Amino acid sequence: MWEGQPVDGLCVAEPKRQIKVCRKLRGKQKAETQLHELAHAACFSSSEPWVTTFAASGAALCYLAGVGHVRRGGDRAAGAAVIRQVLFHCLQLARTDLDNAELLQDWADDLTRCLTRLGWATFTK
Ligand SMILES: [Zn+2]
Repeated sequence: MWEGQPVDGLCVAEPKRQIKVCRKLRGKQKAETQLHELAHAACFSSSEPWVTTFAASGAALCYLAGVGHVRRGGDRAAGAAVIRQVLFHCLQLARTDLDNAELLQDWADDLTRCLTRLGWATFTK
């Protein structure tokens, strides 16, 4: 609970940057919260509405493409290939102010590594 609202996740900056995601979350809600907190950790924007929209869109598009947080199984390499593309295009749409495809791909790749470690993969082998 934070300011009277239930909290699904947190991004902590000090003493070291880390994210916390409510253990009770499952499936797409868990995935979206993970991406949301990672976006805070990566400081893509300090705006809560921006981070909320980015995470909702990125997670929704990954799920449409058959990739998301899986409890077991799935193909992580194939999932990572989809995630890095989806997140790159989401960032390109959301950060038109940057006009730097290489930087945006680096950000997408960093997020992809984190999400893969958190259990994101394709839903089928
Ligand atoms: Zn937030």
